[in-house]
Amino acid sequence: WVHLQARMEPGESNTTKLLGTVQDISKEKQADQYKDDFISIASHELRTPITILSGTLQLLERNKPKEDPKLSGLIDQANKGLKKVTILIEDLLNASKMNEGQLHLNKKPFNIVEAVNECCAHINREGIYKIIVEGDLSADILGDSDRIQQVIINFVNNAIKYAPDEKIIRIKAVDQGDTIKISVIDSGPGIDYGKAAHLFDRYYRVDSKGIQYSGLGLGLYISAEIIKKHGGKIGLTNNNGAGSEFWFVLPK
Ligand code: ADP
Repeated sequence: WVHLQARMEPGESNTTKLLGTVQDISKEKQADQYKDDFISIASHELRTPITILSGTLQLLERNKPKEDPKLSGLIDQANKGLKKVTILIEDLLNASKMNEGQLHLNKKPFNIVEAVNECCAHINREGIYKIIVEGDLSADILGDSDRIQQVIINFVNNAIKYAPDEKIIRIKAVDQGDTIKISVIDSGPGIDYGKAAHLFDRYYRVDSKGIQYSGLGLGLYISAEIIKKHGGKIGLTNNNGAGSEFWFVLPK
């Protein structure tokens, strides 16, 4: 790619200079490739020490003296931190796999409402949130239930993260004939429509008006790749500043 620009320098009224810059697009692609390779190798390398740490914490938990609340608290804290790091690394690994077109689905018939309920039980183990599931879908759908659950968990975790004052989350399941629609609805701040166009891009994050939320901008990208691979659609319906509705539609 060659960009040529005509520029008149002061005192050079009759002379036109052509300034040329040669931008090698393949170099940019190569830089992206290096970045992707680095992320993929680094996250693979981090997996082993994390497994060791997790095993060590389990051993510590089992062998700790019975009456030691301080130690229990510390183990609990370490487990929470480790869980966060594990999720980040899994996201990085998943995203690089998907970017290389290596997402393989293990499709089997499963009941989507049961899958939704399992996700809610998993997220709400401590009973902090009120997650209301509406709709009754008796028909099974054909898909990779682990991957679809990953999408539901991403949506619900985002609703929890970005709408922290709201502890009520609604999940709606609708039978649309040949397709099913699952929506996760929160009453948080919502997302400007102007920013919504890139929401499902890799590493895209919306500036949250000065509030710092941790994250890599990969959850929605991974979710979109999973749904696309199932032949479905994914999107956001904004409720005019009164929350977000993230949804996906899947063929039965
Ligand atoms: P991450 O949460 O790691 O930033 P995601 O891909 O899950 O990555 O989300 C991308 C961006 O979309 C987030 O940075 C956030 O700004 C916005 N977002 C996602 N879900 C919600 C939600 N329920 N309410 C408001 N903003 C959201």
